[in-house]
Amino acid sequence: MSKYIYLDNAATTPMNKSVLKAMKPFWNREYGNASSTHQYGQRSSAAITSIRKVIADFLYCQAEEIIFTSGATESNNTALKGIMRFYNRQFKVKGRKDKPHMIVSAIEHPSVLESALAMEREGFEISIISPDKLGIVNVKDIINEIKDNTVLISLMYVNNETGIIQPVQALGKKLIEINKERKDLPRIYFHIDAVQGFNCLNCRPDHLKVDLMSFSGHKIYGPKGIGVLYVRDKTPLLRLMDGGHQERTLRGGTNNTTGIIGMGQAIKLYIKNSDENIKHITILADYLYTNLKNIKGIRFNSNKEKSVPGIINFAFKDIPGNDLQMKLDLAGFATSTGAACASGSSQASPVLIAMKQTSAEALEGLRISLGNNNTLNELKAFIRTLNSIINNWNND
Ligand code: PMP
Repeated sequence: MSKYIYLDNAATTPMNKSVLKAMKPFWNREYGNASSTHQYGQRSSAAITSIRKVIADFLYCQAEEIIFTSGATESNNTALKGIMRFYNRQFKVKGRKDKPHMIVSAIEHPSVLESALAMEREGFEISIISPDKLGIVNVKDIINEIKDNTVLISLMYVNNETGIIQPVQALGKKLIEINKERKDLPRIYFHIDAVQGFNCLNCRPDHLKVDLMSFSGHKIYGPKGIGVLYVRDKTPLLRLMDGGHQERTLRGGTNNTTGIIGMGQAIKLYIKNSDENIKHITILADYLYTNLKNIKGIRFNSNKEKSVPGIINFAFKDIPGNDLQMKLDLAGFATSTGAACASGSSQASPVLIAMKQTSAEALEGLRISLGNNNTLNELKAFIRTLNSIINNWNND
């Protein structure tokens, strides 16, 4: 094997060298706890403040609305559980006998879906909305599910398995109108998981009309174990873990200064280079769609017009995605059958099932996800190898 080619950037991205360089001093020389009042602490605190401002400026929001977490899993858990538990208290204070209700889509990442199911086990009401066959959740289906006790809607921006973009802005606009009419009813808050959209789409909360938004460092060439929850000013939220007063008391625990610096550097790089990188990935995606189309028996779970360019999911009848992924791995290509968090389970993809595929079909999906470092030559080699694997499938 000459070279191993990485085509799994939706699972994680390689950390950029300048990110590592920016982080290094904070691992040893600048080790102060950002909550300490001495000079060591104050330098760490100042570094975090400057990154918070970079992110806030990028999102056109206030610095206080940026909450650092350990990753998007924690951001999603905090958003969902924090709003629901806050409203639970409110309902009790008001003497209401019912429980708060939340709406999520069936194609959410497990950190949203499992949080919703955990809330259901705590006695809350939840509704799970299926997408259409293309994998798009219909705004009307969500709106129709709104009840008097609805307090939260969570919809992902881009699906991590298919790359399909969800109509979050249309839903956000609609919710503004609906909230205006809900005079004596609780306001409905709107959360999006923007992890897979953050590297190519406009994520400004005021553009999308969202109240809460989660994203993660390691999907944008930053470090693992750091994420952000954007929380619009005046959004009521109970914290997940009890602890210190960090992050406006919404997220106790000593700040991960190194991670925050790394994430900030990754965002600075994105601001500088995103136009060029998105163009590069779009050219690679065009090449892939054109050439994949010619492989006999292929069907697409992504959609060139409706997916982000970096995520392409496809399948071949009677070829299990797991087996194909293993053959590609042996041939020198890192791909995936879907979400890394679900891999190893050999379960049919819940996302493809929600898109009304049979379990056999949903076991056949294979995802490749492109990054800034991929080249056209790598994809030419990938297409040659895939062609040969598929053509010889029944001969092996
Ligand atoms: N949401 C989506 C859509 C994701 O793709 C991921 C990562 N697989 C997460 C949430 C979780 O992010 P993290 O790894 O930062 O916890």
